[in-house]
Amino acid sequence: MLAGQPMPIRRSWLRTLGWTLAMLALLVCAVFMGYSGEYVVAGLFGLFGLAAMFGIGSGSCTTECPVCGAALRGLIGLKRCPQCFAYGKISEGAYYELLPDFVNEVPVLALPLGDRKQMPPLCCVCGVPASRSEKLRIIRVEFAFDLDVPYCALHSAGADLDSEPIPGKGKAQRPVLKVKSNAFYRAYVQANYRMSDQREMGSPCVTEPIKRKVFSVTAQNL
Ligand SMILES: [Zn+2]
Ligand SMILES: [Zn+2]
Repeated sequence: MLAGQPMPIRRSWLRTLGWTLAMLALLVCAVFMGYSGEYVVAGLFGLFGLAAMFGIGSGSCTTECPVCGAALRGLIGLKRCPQCFAYGKISEGAYYELLPDFVNEVPVLALPLGDRKQMPPLCCVCGVPASRSEKLRIIRVEFAFDLDVPYCALHSAGADLDSEPIPGKGKAQRPVLKVKSNAFYRAYVQANYRMSDQREMGSPCVTEPIKRKVFSVTAQNL
């Protein structure tokens, strides 16, 4: 299911400690509420406490993006690189970029939609050449627009327009299109963000991650 260069994952003990404390606090609250007869609240605290175990597991691991070398943290489920937007996940103790033809069961591959919203001519569900499109609409405080999303003849209603917080900008939101097909996702990123290079984003910060990657490879060889 996965291919490409495996990146070693490391455990951040500080994050592990933080998640462990959070889990213990939640479980203590659950027990306390249980004794007080608040069983629904106790159940909720218990559930959040169990969810914190994912944080202790893969959520406390760090690695580098196999595509651009950016530092990645909190590797729960499918992880998007904040720098080059490549998705990856942990498999068999290492971190891999998703295969180009990877298809997820639910639309979670979230494309930040910039000013250009040029859709690739591929089905957003399966990645084969598209033959038609469906209109999606999003209305938020900051933005509102319609978007024609491409589909093949077999698929429909497999994408979502949503919003996500802009990193480092507080509560400000930006629109994202959530899709299932990694082929569609990669083609969109290629068309709208990667202008100069096939593998790297055509942004001013491109040279820095390459340098960092070369450095980390050298450091491993020593
Ligand atoms: Zn990256
Ligand atoms: Zn399709």
